[in-house]
Amino acid sequence: SAQVIDGRACARALKASVAADIELLKEERLPIGLATVMVGDAYGSVAYERRLRRLAADLGVPYLPRRLPATVSQAELDDTIAELNAAPDVSGILVLRPLPPHLSEAVTFQAIHPAKDIEAVHPQNAGLLALGVPRYVPSTAASAYHLLDTWLDSVGEDRADFYHRSLIVVVGRSNNVGKPAVSLGYDRQAAVESIDEWASHTGTLGRHTRRADVLIVAAGRPGLIRAEHVNDHAVVIDVGINPRTGPDGVTHMVGDVDHATVAPRVRALTPVPGGVGPVTDVWLLRNTAAAARVNSARLLSSQEPS
Ligand code: NAD
Repeated sequence: SAQVIDGRACARALKASVAADIELLKEERLPIGLATVMVGDAYGSVAYERRLRRLAADLGVPYLPRRLPATVSQAELDDTIAELNAAPDVSGILVLRPLPPHLSEAVTFQAIHPAKDIEAVHPQNAGLLALGVPRYVPSTAASAYHLLDTWLDSVGEDRADFYHRSLIVVVGRSNNVGKPAVSLGYDRQAAVESIDEWASHTGTLGRHTRRADVLIVAAGRPGLIRAEHVNDHAVVIDVGINPRTGPDGVTHMVGDVDHATVAPRVRALTPVPGGVGPVTDVWLLRNTAAAARVNSARLLSSQEPS
């Protein structure tokens, strides 16, 4: 049976190194602060905000959760972001998704100052990521690879050698998870294949996924990947987070991978919960700390005489 990759242990270790970074920032008196903007009150966003509040408090990072009503106009949302852009004690800004349909993600993301755009959603940061020179690596895709890298170290496999001979198949092609996961695979000089829901509609999903040495699944479809979709040496990273209400009326989180049938078959896999999720939260704080340095460098250079 597969090794279950422990995301919580990985998150704890990462958190210790982020805490050390934050101590240094404090010694250097560089302001660090995280702001989130939530429009409406989607179930997933509320839960994410709660986790970030707790984690920021643990790490001693000021946290500014802004909530706007679901009816807010684009102009009002942009004004809120402009305020956060100008706030010297805010180093990183995260706009929680989904936005209500009357608001434009493209317009909203361009309103974020690139130096504070810790999820790399602004075109400038998305472009730098695609060019292989990221300013910030988006937290979910970063966490998928952080788990892989950490697991490779734990089994004594050379990272470069593993990636150079691997095919990474990414299921799901969203701007915030699937596409960054493809870019990070390129950065590791792996062969990478990206598929979306058309592979399912056309019945070709398994043909792609069975060839994967690394299978990263971010489709948001519970139980999408089953035993017949994997091979016996695959390492499976399950990014999906789906609420599922059992016969007892209790709602649990499940991934996109049918753990019960896939686990006996593959080499290693991440569970849900306790896999990618906990690492993602800490990675966002890591980017918030990195942003404190980017912002202070920017402010110093803007004070220089021109
Ligand atoms: P999204 O809805 O924006 O994109 C989903 C992608 O999957 C699309 O490209 C779509 O074409 C593809 N897809 C949908 N159904 C498919 C199918 N049957 N076969 C193949 N591809 C299919 O979602 P997203 O924001 O990328 O998130 C994906 C999942 O990851 C969701 O469950 C989300 O909750 C979860 N998520 C987890 C974390 C974390 O930290 N673990 C962070 C962000 C998102």
